[in-house]
This record gives sequence, structure tokens and C-alpha cells, in this order.
Amino acid sequence: MAEKKLNGTVIVTYRCNARCSMCNRYKAPSKPEEEISVDTIKKLPKMYFTNITGGEPFIRTDLKEIVRELYKKSDRIVISTNGFFTDRIVDLCKEFPEVGIRISIEGLEKTNNEIRGLENGYQRGYGTLKKLVEMGMKDVGFGMTVQDRNAPDLVQLYQISNEMGMEFATASLHNSFYFVEAKNIIHDRPMVAENFEKLVNELLCSKSPKKWFRAYFNHGLINYIYGQKRLLPCDMSFDTFFIDPYGDVMPCNGTKDKEVMGNLNRQCWDELWNSTEAQNVRKKVRGCDRNCWMIGSVSPAMHKYIWKPAIWVMRHKLKSLFTKRPYSMYENKIVRDYRDGKVTKEELDKCSTCDMCAEANDGLSEDSKAQLLGRTGEEIVDADIVEQMKK
Ligand code: SF4
Ligand code: SF4
Repeated sequence: MAEKKLNGTVIVTYRCNARCSMCNRYKAPSKPEEEISVDTIKKLPKMYFTNITGGEPFIRTDLKEIVRELYKKSDRIVISTNGFFTDRIVDLCKEFPEVGIRISIEGLEKTNNEIRGLENGYQRGYGTLKKLVEMGMKDVGFGMTVQDRNAPDLVQLYQISNEMGMEFATASLHNSFYFVEAKNIIHDRPMVAENFEKLVNELLCSKSPKKWFRAYFNHGLINYIYGQKRLLPCDMSFDTFFIDPYGDVMPCNGTKDKEVMGNLNRQCWDELWNSTEAQNVRKKVRGCDRNCWMIGSVSPAMHKYIWKPAIWVMRHKLKSLFTKRPYSMYENKIVRDYRDGKVTKEELDKCSTCDMCAEANDGLSEDSKAQLLGRTGEEIVDADIVEQMKK
């Protein structure tokens, strides 16, 4: 029997040079000496898809070695980045022209720079994307975390990505140890949903089947921001995993606190994957009520339960033959209920994972935590980058 391939996400570092308003990871960096080594990466199983992420993955100067190793075991690799280290990205893409690159752009110039807190962030991100396209890179795209501040830019950004022939990936606000955040929440749900609705209609009216399924994903984001049950089951940790910079294998990046199935620095893959700890985490996943809607957990579910998005797509494609607006956000009962005053904003807020009183866990090791005594995460990472640049 053919070996079953998994879907994996490798968090190569928790260091980050951005200052995003919806993520505090930059305040809680990992110590470089503790970050996942190529030897540990060698122990990962075969994967049909691998996402490399951070922090900012290109802060790691040995990222090429990691990618080289991962290509021995993965059919497809996509790296998520804030696009700041243009030269490093271009250099890596020269060696691996088949790699996918997703650069997060959080809106048009002003909005992006406000949200991301990176000087010249938009120009750098956009400039990097343009360079990659000019190099002939095929799998390049934008990633946008939609929130109150940038929702009005959503369709325009999609159109820019379209003109450049790029992929356009969306997400919305989540709370978890990974984002070191517990207070993210959408305030003006109808306004944000309206912008998603426009995007869904654009995608449905396109000629690309891939975009029709993206439309379904964005329909799911409307459902998510209204705090409703996921449209598809969450099977994280069954054939999908995340591994953090310390070698800890986890089901996903959406849990409140870090959930650990085992540690790949100390264990081999089979022992870890079949351990009692892993089984216990799978039981928790089955009972998880956080209802995340992030591409990492939704994409495998869309493949596994393909009939559900497929029926939705067929229904709306049929409608698109007769109208330019085949989708309405009011197809979602909860959106109608809120409009009709049957449910209050406070009630919807309670359905979200936002907890204004909670202190976010950061999932750092004791050693990484210790480096924060007397210095901020930003100071540590800035000094780190200055050193790297000198070399
Ligand atoms: S969202 Fe990404 S780029 Fe922004 S602070 Fe968090 S890890 Fe860094
Ligand atoms: S819903 Fe799925 S992805 Fe979200 S925290 Fe629960 S198990 Fe993780």
C-alpha cells in the first residue's frame, strides 16, 4: 500500500521583524539556537504539501538548507512571508523556482503600513512580488488578513493581484497562542461581510474553477466572523500537523494554548504520531469548538469533503449565468438574524474566541522566555537583524 502523505506546516522561527496589529508574535521570539534544525527536519514524514512559516521565515539565514531538505519529502512547498527580505527571497527562488511564495499585504499602501508596522512595508512586499513575477515564478501570491481596518481594500487588492496574474489568499482575525493574541475581534461585521460578499461575487464570475472554490472559502469566512460553527469538520492532527521551532508537533495553530502531540527532536516520527499524547490531542480536536476558518485547516477539509463545496459552487455558478451577483451574504441565516435584530452584537461577540480578560500564552520555551528578562522581543530581533546584515 502506498505510504500516506500528510499536510504539514513548519514554523521555522518565532522571530519576526514586523509589528502587526493583530499578532503579538514579534514580542515573543524564539532563541535562534533553539530553532528547528535540518536534522530534525530530516525526521519529518512524506508530505503532499508543506507550508513554511514563522514569525518571518526569511529571518533564518539557513532557510535554503531547510527548503532543500523539505523538497526530498514534500510534493509542494509554499513559504508565507511578510516580503521584507527581498534579496533573500529572490535568492531562494532562483534555486527553487517551483516553490510557492505568499506575501502578506494587509491592504493598500497606507492601510498595510499601519497594520503591519513595517516602514515601507507595502512597497517592499509589492516590489518583491513584482520581482518574482518578472523572474517567471509561477506560484506567487498575496495573503491578506481581513479586519475592520482593511476590509474596504479587499476587492481592490484582489484586482491588483489578478492584474499581476497572482494568487489571492484571505484570512480573518484569529486568537491563539501562535498569534500571542486573545483580543482580536471584528467589530463591524456587516461591513466586513459586505466586502467579502463583493469578493465572493468577483471570484464566482471568474472563469477559474480554483477561484470558485476560493469563493466558498470566503463564504466560510463570513460564517466565521459571525461566530458560527465551521462549514466543514476540522480534522487537524489526523492527516495534518504543525511543528513549532522547538520541534513540538501540534495539531494546528488555532488553539488557545499550545497542544503537544510529541517532540521530534527527541522522538522519531512513527513513535510520536502513534503516541498516547497524540491520541489525546486528537480527542481534543474532535471536541474543539473554536471554529477556526484558516486555509491550513480548511484546505484539507475542502479536499476531503469535496461534495459540500462542490454543491455550493454548482448552485452559485448556475445563478451566475443569470446575474452578476450570484451570492448574497444574507444566504447566511445568522447575517439575516443580525440584520433583523434577532441577535445582538454582544451575543455574537460571545460566540467568538475573543476574551478581553485573557492573557495570551506564547508557547515559548523557558530559555526563549528568559531572554525577554530586561529586553523586549523587538529589541532582540532588531539587534539580531543588524548582526546578520553586518555578516
Ligand atoms: S502576523 Fe506574521 S508578520 Fe505579522 S507580527 Fe505576526 S508573525 Fe510577524
Ligand atoms: S477548530 Fe481545528 S484548527 Fe481551530 S483550534 Fe480547533 S482543532 Fe485547531
